[in-house]
Amino acid sequence: ERNVVIVGAGMAGVQTAVALREGGFRDRITLIGAEPHPPYDRPPLSKAVLLGQADGSSFDIDFAALGVELRLGLAVTGLRADVRELDTADGPVPYDVLVLATGAEPVRLPGTDGLPGVHLLRTLDDAERLRPVLARRDDVVVVGAGWIGAEFATAAREAGCAVTVVEAADRPLAGVLPAEVAAPMSGWYAESGAELLTGTRVASIEPGAVVLADGRRLAAGAVVVGVGARPATGWLAGSGVELGPDGSVTADEGLGTSLPGVYAVGDCASFPSARYGARLLVHHWDNALQGPRTVAARITGEGEGVYDPVPYFWSEQFGRFVQYAGHHAPSDTLVWRGAPAEAAWSVAWLREGALVALLAVGRPRDLAQARKLLETAARLDPRLLADPSVPLKKA
Ligand code: FAD
Repeated sequence: ERNVVIVGAGMAGVQTAVALREGGFRDRITLIGAEPHPPYDRPPLSKAVLLGQADGSSFDIDFAALGVELRLGLAVTGLRADVRELDTADGPVPYDVLVLATGAEPVRLPGTDGLPGVHLLRTLDDAERLRPVLARRDDVVVVGAGWIGAEFATAAREAGCAVTVVEAADRPLAGVLPAEVAAPMSGWYAESGAELLTGTRVASIEPGAVVLADGRRLAAGAVVVGVGARPATGWLAGSGVELGPDGSVTADEGLGTSLPGVYAVGDCASFPSARYGARLLVHHWDNALQGPRTVAARITGEGEGVYDPVPYFWSEQFGRFVQYAGHHAPSDTLVWRGAPAEAAWSVAWLREGALVALLAVGRPRDLAQARKLLETAARLDPRLLADPSVPLKKA
């Protein structure tokens, strides 16, 4: 009998257990998670859960019926691969096959740990601490205009809070999207009544105020820090599992790691993509759904066991449904479909005439068609592509 142990009971860990059972794996599965709560889904935390429209977002999965042993509220602190054992506060846990699914941790602002009124938004506990902030309509300052910052600002405006978003770069999502695509997104903040301060740095946070590098003080009943996330892999230092400079477990094309019998999946793992000619570290939900199928297939010996997805994610911000599929590089050719002043538009990226990525704002049909075209790296006619009235699949 093989004993599979999965570390991390988020989307990727849970889906690995589910995929193993779906793949006919009958042996032992243990799922260990540091958080005390029944495993839950994260995207609702910055949306319905924050606004109190949903109590929680637990996965609707009967782990006992699946034959999965859950060990919650238990952090794994070390890996001793030579004897195939994990260290925990409850003593050592042996494994035959190990799946690393510890996700990511939000990056903190230096010197703000434990400061009252300073929040992160990653866990259910974080969301529960932020709910009363919204309910009281406190003035909030959001640090970072990334995906989390935009979604939190959206919810806080909806709740009626005064919202100021401080962003060091000259635009929102600077690390992800080129300036011409991010430019219209800046306007979404103002339109919702949130103030966006770009090119602005936080110098310090004091009780009730954020002090900016230029000396300005912003009153803040609460501060929400959304400046990115890093793989939660600190506990693997010295274990022999290879980590990259970004902190990710550098998995191979089948999500195997540098150690035999050890796999990595979800937000904690990067993988080489032959499709895009790059190593990808994807911090999105769909990756935590698809990756586990490859890992399960590798463990059960079914299927080809190669993971080279077309990445996909969505974000709900300022009343808009934003979706992105694929992966683009700065050198790819950008084609607009529709005008950014309109309610709905898309942007496509071509590489040597083939579609490599698409961003859709309020155009879910474009996105759905693009996902299929991206699978085959279809060549598109840029003139037809630029016409939003021509269905993407006919371009
Ligand atoms: P996680 O969900 O981070 O789960 C990892 C789990 O492992 C955690 O519960 C952690 O406590 C546990 N763990 C960590 N270290 C240890 C240890 N040493 N021992 C034991 N347990 C450990 N993506 C989208 O595509 N669209 C969205 O709209 C979207 N919205 C989001 C909103 C929020 C607020 C957040 C935080 C994320 C959102 N995402 C979204 C991203 C998506 O939720 C993540 O990509 C996904 O949760 C990754 O799953 P994971 O299982 O790899 O990691």
